Amino acid sequence: MRSYGDEVVVLRAQQLGEADRILTLFGRERGKIRAVARGVRRTNSKIGGRLEPFAVVDAQLYSKNPDDRSRLETVTQAVTVESFAEAIVADYERYAAANAMVESVDEIIDAEPAALQYALLLQGLRSLTSGERDPLLELDAYLLRSLSLAGWEPSFNECARCGAPGPHARISFAAGGAVCASCAPGCGATLAAHIDTMRLLWALLAGNWRVAEGSDQATRADASRIVKAYVTYHLDRQLKSFTAIDEVWRMRNAGG
Ligand SMILES: [Zn+2]
Repeated sequence: MRSYGDEVVVLRAQQLGEADRILTLFGRERGKIRAVARGVRRTNSKIGGRLEPFAVVDAQLYSKNPDDRSRLETVTQAVTVESFAEAIVADYERYAAANAMVESVDEIIDAEPAALQYALLLQGLRSLTSGERDPLLELDAYLLRSLSLAGWEPSFNECARCGAPGPHARISFAAGGAVCASCAPGCGATLAAHIDTMRLLWALLAGNWRVAEGSDQATRADASRIVKAYVTYHLDRQLKSFTAIDEVWRMRNAGG
């Protein structure tokens, strides 16, 4: 048996029986951790309220078998470092964006350290709670960077196949991003992308917020469509939380 401490972000919390909770945690030092927190749903639990999704806590954990990371570990203590939950659940768009962030990182990381992904997630959640920018732009910037860290950095300017300078009008995920008119026919399935959409995607990946925030709603919606397809292609499944993102776009388009 081994006890250790790590700063963790709570990605998911599922009820287990009457009083316990199964947690998916992202540890700064340890990567993905699956753990059980016992008695957290009792009203006198000291740590229960601290182990909600989007909370950052200093946790003490122990594992009966440290060599077998597929086994559930146990959370014995939790001290709040920073909680984004209140500011996130107060706003539907932020909540939808934050859910997509944690669901995608849950797919990307495993039981290995991923310090850059950890820092990026904290930065993404913190930016969402600040409310300074469009939550869906924050989400797309986060997803593009997170998948880039995972080894799938797309090109939105030069042709991903031959390097011809852009802008180009089509995207191939198999080729790695924008593809020129000569390469496109040999790149399998491609998506059409307007020049303004390409520019926004490039700006989100580069962190050029002046350009990104100068985009209109139609361009943002189009970029969102492409980012979702890009994530779905590389993770090989559609995130459940994308349903809520689609709903946000429907509400925006309806003017609500
Ligand atoms: Zn080309």
